Amino acid sequence: MITPRIEVDLGKIRHNTRFLVDHLKSQGISVTAVTKAVCGHPEIAQAMLDGGAIELGESRMRNVERLRKAGITAPIALIRTPMLSQVDQVVQCCDTSYNTEIAVITRLGDAALRKKSVHGIILMVEMGDMRDGIMPENIEAVAAQVNAIPGVALKGIGANYACLGGAVPDAAKMAAFSTIAREIKGASGSSMETVSGGNSANLPWALGHHPKGCINNLRLGEAILLGVEPVSGSHIDGLCTDAFTLIAEVIEAKVKTAPSSASFTDPALAALQLGPENVRSVRLIIAVGKQDIDISGLTLPKGVTFLGATSDHMVVGTVRSHTRVGGELRLQMNYSALMRAMAAPDITNVIKGNTSPWKPESRSCDDLRSALV
Ligand SMILES: *Cc1c(COP(=O)(O)O)cnc(C)c1O
Repeated sequence: MITPRIEVDLGKIRHNTRFLVDHLKSQGISVTAVTKAVCGHPEIAQAMLDGGAIELGESRMRNVERLRKAGITAPIALIRTPMLSQVDQVVQCCDTSYNTEIAVITRLGDAALRKKSVHGIILMVEMGDMRDGIMPENIEAVAAQVNAIPGVALKGIGANYACLGGAVPDAAKMAAFSTIAREIKGASGSSMETVSGGNSANLPWALGHHPKGCINNLRLGEAILLGVEPVSGSHIDGLCTDAFTLIAEVIEAKVKTAPSSASFTDPALAALQLGPENVRSVRLIIAVGKQDIDISGLTLPKGVTFLGATSDHMVVGTVRSHTRVGGELRLQMNYSALMRAMAAPDITNVIKGNTSPWKPESRSCDDLRSALV
């Protein structure tokens, strides 16, 4: 088997999506499944759709194009406000995009008119996360401007929490967002079909007994992929946390004695957690490093302790004296480690548990669009 590799269990991703979709449905909330952490991997995206997600959310056009080229025909929303330089691709491959700039929305409209289509616009509202968003006091005026731009249709509003700033989406913040949505619905006269309340950090609120107001969608990545709620990092009951496993290979296994710390002249070396001096222990060198993954986001197997890492090596201590060169270590990843690992060119993905009848096929965005009309 090729190493390093990520084993992806599609059955667990389908299960997690289905569980969240079913529990949120009873609250009147649909699920947009966010694929950015897996770089728009088509089979993983399809597992999310098979689990009941109504739409995919992506932040990067390269990933959207990957999904379309593999033959995914489901609606895709660009959830990062589009680059002006990419408006044509956005209109070509995405049904809707999340926006905060009139200049961009105008150009999206121009691009849509050239393609004789209409592009959906969701306006992102700044609710305290201090990332992309229109200030609440300006949202009504911006919505009115969007309604006057040819080639685009205002489809709704969205909020984002606990991503950059620490704003946790509690009942009061969500009630405030719902009020904004209701006011714009009244004022703008457009259908405003989507009121997207946030991301995985919203799940404690969404699955709890708080009133949902007019919020009818969440954009979920981390909870589906890893089964955890990002603010507390705690496991969401009923979800699988091990859909992804990183498997890396041992390239050295030796009993070594740590040198005396006095011999460390370089502070970086002194910072290495080499353990008590002169204690003999089995050290393994694993062929994966900082260039491939966020080392601090790894969970090591029982009996293995982290000692240090370089760009290309991870050094661990182990009580498992049977581990040999060529052996494999199975590691669990948090969200940050997962997204880096999925984007790493030297890490292969191995897909397991694919019982979906869907098979990726190679098509261009243009082929796809013409097949859809
Ligand atoms: C990344 C992202 C999400 C998904 O966040 P998770 O915490 O992975 O659920 C949702 N919305 C936007 C705008 C994002 O950028």
